[in-house]
Amino acid sequence: MSIPFVDLKAQYESIKEEIDLAIASVINETSFIGGEKVKSFESEFAKYVGSKHCIGMANGTDAIEIALKALGIGVGDEVIVPALTWISTAGAVNGIGAEPVFVDVLEDERTIDPAQIEEKITDRTKAIIPVHLFGLPARMDRIMTIAEKHDLHVIEDCAQAHGAEFNDQRVGTFGDIATFSFYPGKNLGAYGDAGAVVTNRDDLAETCRMLSNHGQMSKHDHRIIGRNSRLDTMQAAILNAKLPHAEQWTEARIRVAGWYEERLTGLKRPVTPENMRHVFHLYVVQSSKRADLMTKLKEANIGCAIHYPTPLPYLKSYAYKNHQRGEFTIAEKLCNEIISLPMFAELSEEEVDWICEILNQ
Ligand SMILES: *Cc1c(COP(=O)(O)O)cnc(C)c1O
Repeated sequence: MSIPFVDLKAQYESIKEEIDLAIASVINETSFIGGEKVKSFESEFAKYVGSKHCIGMANGTDAIEIALKALGIGVGDEVIVPALTWISTAGAVNGIGAEPVFVDVLEDERTIDPAQIEEKITDRTKAIIPVHLFGLPARMDRIMTIAEKHDLHVIEDCAQAHGAEFNDQRVGTFGDIATFSFYPGKNLGAYGDAGAVVTNRDDLAETCRMLSNHGQMSKHDHRIIGRNSRLDTMQAAILNAKLPHAEQWTEARIRVAGWYEERLTGLKRPVTPENMRHVFHLYVVQSSKRADLMTKLKEANIGCAIHYPTPLPYLKSYAYKNHQRGEFTIAEKLCNEIISLPMFAELSEEEVDWICEILNQ
């Protein structure tokens, strides 16, 4: 039995008619930029998150850059980010000319460690970007308290956490603004690049919309310097077809995680604190014998991956910051020991059984 790391085809097969109709309808209408499909996705996704506004963007990385810009952050400013995340979280900060400042993560939850944020705050610090990594919310209560105390903005990076909850409240509604990615492999994925920002603030929503559409308020009325980072209509149509299924897919992911939890022994498994809803973008286990386990999985034709092999401060792109090994001990340990196992809604209990049998051996 061969089991892929992720199977986007299985999901397509399950809603083929709806997707094919959505695509055909965009082509029939020959309305490829903007229009009703983008508008309806924005309003439905805002409802899904529980936020007042959603503005579609070209991808999740642009969404972070535009959110930072809308908050007035730029050259000379510092923004706190976790040492363990996808590169975009920090790259977007550099992208607008500001400087990312790395903070280590919690060993069990793998999200930014609130206890280490304050020592990194300087008079240049303007914002914190907590990442709800792998689908588990960051410690938003403590992060918001620190942000309020130091008058910092909070941009939630929700790229891996569509539908995740902290104290029964959806992620994306805690900070000033939040960003999502609809990269195909994300929990809600388009068929190409796509992203969005959500916010409860009218002023930020208006600025983000202008920034992502040439600084325009209306046609030829360019109020600020913007760019083109609009959500593509074809992607919006696909997302409209998929969004009604998102809850059911999330529940299926949580069920798959439960099967792993029941069966796996001798490996450190992901934790879910009681006040959180983990949506398992990734199912990440930890072992000091990672290389052996990965060899066994490969031999059994079971997909797996490492998210991520290197803490961001140790990447070549951040060599200019001169960080030394030993500065981010938890992220370092995680990067050496974590393995992401197959995780998608269509995974069967028999498949999880087989994966666990290989690993438990
Ligand atoms: C995927 C991802 C992004 C970026 O999204 P893109 O749509 O690929 O640009 C940002 N942050 C995190 C944590 C991600 O996983």
